[in-house]
Amino acid sequence: MSFNIAIDGPAGAGKSTIAKRAAKELSFIYVDTGAMYRSIALGLLRGGVDIEDTQALEKALEQIEVSIGYENHEQQVFLNQENVSGLIRTEEVSRMASAASAKPQVRAKLTELQRSLARREDVLMDGRDIGTMILPDAQLKIYLTASVHTRALRRYKELIERGEDCSLEDIEKDIEERDYRDMHRETAPLCQAEDAVLIDSSEMTIDEVVERIISLAKSRM
Ligand code: C5P
Repeated sequence: MSFNIAIDGPAGAGKSTIAKRAAKELSFIYVDTGAMYRSIALGLLRGGVDIEDTQALEKALEQIEVSIGYENHEQQVFLNQENVSGLIRTEEVSRMASAASAKPQVRAKLTELQRSLARREDVLMDGRDIGTMILPDAQLKIYLTASVHTRALRRYKELIERGEDCSLEDIEKDIEERDYRDMHRETAPLCQAEDAVLIDSSEMTIDEVVERIISLAKSRM
């Protein structure tokens, strides 16, 4: 049987950096489910779809196919066979992913893809509803969070390093809004699974968090 690790938590808690590192050290496959939602969002944006129009949304989803593959151990995500990994990290896609992922039709499209990956392989999967909905039987569940201020500051530094113009205040507001939407939506809201281990990374380094996850995983293997 495969060994599954679920890591959930709000945007900017460092999930993907930490999950990638922990997966590599454990020789697990890293599955970034956020990238799948982002790819659907890109497809919807390209099609100019009004996601509040249920018929239009359902019709558009029939034309959207998401799959993943790996290049040098890095997850690549494909939208109708086109590798869109480099196109899904914009603020526009982030906003659409957050809005579209509240739609049950969008979530249903990805559920089986995510579950089938976890059945076949030892995976470390990160997202919002992995421990609660997608892999309720995962052998290890982590809820990784950090304060809004810490998460905003990390994002701010990232953007400044990339030479982008931004304000810390706007980022904090954006994170608060995204948290609210992710936690209050009707379908698969972000919440800590009862049996998840809570890790608050506000005062921890990436190495410390990775170490903690690896030691928890090893103790359960
Ligand atoms: O993690 P990331 O920021 O890439 O996720 C993009 C968006 O997709 C999030 O705003 C979140 O609402 C949604 N998402 C989700 N369920 C997941 C992963 C991501 O609803 N398992």
